[in-house]
Amino acid sequence: MAIVNAGQLDVYDTIDPELRQAVEDVVLNRKVEGEAETPTERLIALAERYKGSNPAQEKAAEEWRGWEVAKRLEHALVKGIDAYVVDDTEEMRQLMPRPIEVIEGPLMDGMNVVGDLFGSGKMFLPQVVKSARVMKKAVAHLLPFIEAAKEPGAKGKGKVVMATVKGDVHDIGKNIVGVVLQCNGFEIVDLGVMVPWSKILEAANENDADMIGLSGLITPSLDEMVTVAEEMQRAGMTMPLLIGGATTSKVHTALRIDPAYQGPVLHVLDASRAVGVATSLVSDTGRDAYVQGYKDDYAHVRDVRAGKGQSVLHTLEEARANYYDAYLSDKPAPPLQPGLHRFDDWSLEDLRECIDWTPFFRAWELHGTYPSILDDDVVGETAVALKADADAMLDKLIAEKWLTARGVCAFWPCARDGDSVTIHLADEERHVTLPFLRQQIKKSRDRANMCLADFIDPAGDWMGGFAVGIHGIEPHSERFRADKDDYSDILLKALADRFAEAFAERLHQHVRTTLWGYAPGEQLTNEALIKEEYRGIRPAPGYPACPDHSLKPILFDLLKAEDNAGLVLTESFAMLPTAAVSGFYFGHPESQYFGVARIGSDQLEDYAARRGVDLETATRWLRPNLD
Ligand code: SAH
Repeated sequence: MAIVNAGQLDVYDTIDPELRQAVEDVVLNRKVEGEAETPTERLIALAERYKGSNPAQEKAAEEWRGWEVAKRLEHALVKGIDAYVVDDTEEMRQLMPRPIEVIEGPLMDGMNVVGDLFGSGKMFLPQVVKSARVMKKAVAHLLPFIEAAKEPGAKGKGKVVMATVKGDVHDIGKNIVGVVLQCNGFEIVDLGVMVPWSKILEAANENDADMIGLSGLITPSLDEMVTVAEEMQRAGMTMPLLIGGATTSKVHTALRIDPAYQGPVLHVLDASRAVGVATSLVSDTGRDAYVQGYKDDYAHVRDVRAGKGQSVLHTLEEARANYYDAYLSDKPAPPLQPGLHRFDDWSLEDLRECIDWTPFFRAWELHGTYPSILDDDVVGETAVALKADADAMLDKLIAEKWLTARGVCAFWPCARDGDSVTIHLADEERHVTLPFLRQQIKKSRDRANMCLADFIDPAGDWMGGFAVGIHGIEPHSERFRADKDDYSDILLKALADRFAEAFAERLHQHVRTTLWGYAPGEQLTNEALIKEEYRGIRPAPGYPACPDHSLKPILFDLLKAEDNAGLVLTESFAMLPTAAVSGFYFGHPESQYFGVARIGSDQLEDYAARRGVDLETATRWLRPNLD
């Protein structure tokens, strides 16, 4: 059988007719009466002519190499080909009076083409990030000449100080935005991850920045962004503040960040909008009206919010009376292998099999479901090329063992105690309480006000926990960055995230079929796993059913996650290494995901007492769920 690499498929009609005929004869087993050679022999003979070459591609390759040098640079930028860029840049430099003119002339012209194609939806993020790699390599070649000539550097459109806020470690989105802005002539001062507000303000002042861009993924980062805004206000700053990242939103920006800072505050929905926003902010003419547009919009959002009646809450007591009445006789049997299980090096080859690719494409702002996204009319071609690059990197990183998947899981006897679950650690002679939150919004008909504790029997039951992480990314990430290769760096980080999710999925399956063993005969395809068609759930702290990230230290302590899987937490409860997943196991057949949503002050007080913290701390932790 032929093995097809979808990333290299040619258009059928453009295949050399002689070759096409020979291949079809083999595939269709066409024997021609009276001919001495079999179709196989004929194809093998013909193959000699094609050995080691792809004629169509080579012809195209030769062609653009013959163009004049400025055109070649533009072609390399638009196609993201970095193989010849240093040579071509050098050739161009010798033609130009000053090295800086190479950047300001042909390179910027090429990037403008890229920017226009991206802006008009004819090019997508993965391609733009590849173009940026070409640009960076060209600029890196020119810099020593520019410095030797003591010329001032390229005058960019503007300078942006960017950071992932304190307590947060996620930077894929920030890096993508940085690359896209650089492509469009902005200078980026990237402060990295876990950056405290004082450093951000300092860097903005020292660099005389035109704007600050903040990024964050987890909900505690929202508060940290408010702090940065407040501190900018206190310091009397006026430069624009850009907000981005998965949990940020227009509403949160309008309600909490914008009121904290009198200067311009702008929520940027995704990387493709960043250029438009940043460009408007450095425009001499349109800027004020543009900023006012945002201020008005946020004021409007606040007005609408203030005028709108919010959904009505039950009292905590009423909500508890309307608990989810699980049929407790169905509770799972005790685990076949109770206690703690540690995995020091789970096979990456195995994890590759159960990767859910849809979120991978979403990370690159390609929207659609895998695998049909590969045939998408608009982004299909880009998705195929990106998947081919991902597969090539997976081949390499598995063969060369770049990464190590470490994880731990455990099962504990427990009992429901109101809205909490108490775990009994017999060996250590202690109890650990896991406080959960209950839905309080009044529901239509007879729907329950759920709490995770509802799936646990007060008379005695079992639950579990897990934490998995992907280690070893740093040296490779650094190597890529040193090589000005953001594309590979972002690709690697996105793949590490996929491995972490795949590990969580695979381990959960191992738990159901073997370790806990309540579903020994389970047989599910990868598609069914992704759709969660199995019995039991693995809710993660910080997600809607248990939105308090502060349960992670309790979970990590139960699992001894640092010793057993090398995982640690930041002050905002983000996990390190960044590609990591943790959560609880519930085995009851009726257990399900839900969202706690808004809670009242009665539950806040009750929770603070159960969690053993003061009201102020509980308020900080539960802020996204409070009025
Ligand atoms: N296959 C996807 C998994 C997405 S997230 C991927 O590879 O990215 C799915 C996980 O998020 C669940 O396994 C659970 O751990 C968590 N989760 C989802 N909804 C949740 C909810 N409402 N409450 C708590 N955790 C939830």
